[in-house]
Amino acid sequence: MALLETRDLTAFYGDFQALFGVDLTLQEGETVAVIGANGAGKTTLMRSVSGLIRQTPGMVRLDGREIGALPADEIMAQGVAMVPEGRKLFPSLSVEENLLMGRHRRKVNGPWSLDSVYRLFPILKERRNQPGTALSGGQQQMVSIGRALMSNPRVLLCDEISLGLAPVVIRDIYAAFPRIRETGASVIVVEQDIGQAMKVADRVYCMMEGRVTLSGRPDELSREAIHDAYFGAA
Ligand code: ATP
Repeated sequence: MALLETRDLTAFYGDFQALFGVDLTLQEGETVAVIGANGAGKTTLMRSVSGLIRQTPGMVRLDGREIGALPADEIMAQGVAMVPEGRKLFPSLSVEENLLMGRHRRKVNGPWSLDSVYRLFPILKERRNQPGTALSGGQQQMVSIGRALMSNPRVLLCDEISLGLAPVVIRDIYAAFPRIRETGASVIVVEQDIGQAMKVADRVYCMMEGRVTLSGRPDELSREAIHDAYFGAA
């Protein structure tokens, strides 16, 4: 059984339909990437899984149990943590207080604590008493990832963590992923950066206009197929 599964998932903003029957699975310990252009529906998919967009029952399952109709805080309590697009740090809180907010949301024992997050991103320890918003974009992204890890999630959802960051900074952030995997977390990364997605993921889903247009292991997908699934066939 998949750890997380969406089946025939749809989502609407008012009358506008943003997702059309999305099927996605995430196995325990797996890292899956969701790629697609602006507006393809990637964020809407993440928001649907994390409960920010309420779903009708039957569409989202964690460990085989229906979670799609639960409120976001309940889904978080069950172990689905989100690193939101744009980081969304608490501006009045220090780095350490931001990290502790993640702990506050789900108090379970596991590999992640302030100590292990500081080992993962040592710069955050140096900056721990500064306001999160005083940090560089890359460091803020580290806080956002660390905050999600502090809840010891079973599923970590990362929405466009490379957005707006320099390549060298993106590399530093993705360097943390092998360690995150080692702890047993299962991960979905949403990326516009196809190369980065291919490097980190066991499987890739490509989306266009609210639908999954292609999925598979990076080594079984050709550049041409990805190009067509991403931009549409010419
Ligand atoms: P991006 O890379 O821009 O985040 P995305 O693949 O994550 O793109 P979504 O943000 O999920 O795409 O958007 C999917 C579609 O839903 C787009 O057409 C977008 O304009 C629309 N949309 C997103 N949020 C809203 C909203 N709050 N109200 C109305 N339409 C929305």
